[in-house]
Amino acid sequence: MTDGPLRLVCASANPDKVTEIAAVLNGIAVLLPRPAGLADVVEDAPDLAGNALLKAQAVSEASGGAAVADDTGLEVDALDGAPGVYSARFAGPNASYSDNVERLLSELRGVPPLLRTARFRTVAVVVRPDGSMVSAEGVVEGHITAECRGEGGFGYDCVFEPDKSGGLTFAEMIPADKHAISHRGRALRSLAEKLTVVGADGGT
Ligand code: IMP
Repeated sequence: MTDGPLRLVCASANPDKVTEIAAVLNGIAVLLPRPAGLADVVEDAPDLAGNALLKAQAVSEASGGAAVADDTGLEVDALDGAPGVYSARFAGPNASYSDNVERLLSELRGVPPLLRTARFRTVAVVVRPDGSMVSAEGVVEGHITAECRGEGGFGYDCVFEPDKSGGLTFAEMIPADKHAISHRGRALRSLAEKLTVVGADGGT
């Protein structure tokens, strides 16, 4: 196995996700930037694992290094698991975070608190230069609030209250508290544990 810390090229082009991936992997892996000028990867796989793999493969090929990607979905029980893999485009192809939040709150109008259960699910994947991959999943259970609360985080954070958060949405928590229990934190820590056993380069 190669000595030294894990070195992973970040496959995400979303600055909010890059900030979180860097914070979670701080002290666990050295995160290298995505190659400049690389086009966005079309995320057209039918599930989170497929999309994470597409992104990690493209960035590993372009950079020649081991690349880490995550794909995340919000699953709302009252909407039969939607928006799920379509979370980024819930309110349309070029929807902003607030467009998506508005659509979600409007779809859930009149749904009582007990039936607003939901979870974030992240699949994190590393693809190595030899094409082999390692993946891990992270889930956090919670519910969708009646209104947007808090200024932190991104995406659906202001309407997601994780279980046992003391009544705070992710957007009302400090980042370290979000990462300690979040879907992304759990997926990336689990992935890093698997990689520490075999090495990001496949144990060569
Ligand atoms: P992606 O496909 O993994 O980039 O994420 C899909 C969408 O889910 C993003 O556009 C965000 O709206 C949302 N999302 C992803 N991660 C988070 C998170 O940690 N908190 C809130 N929303 C998120």
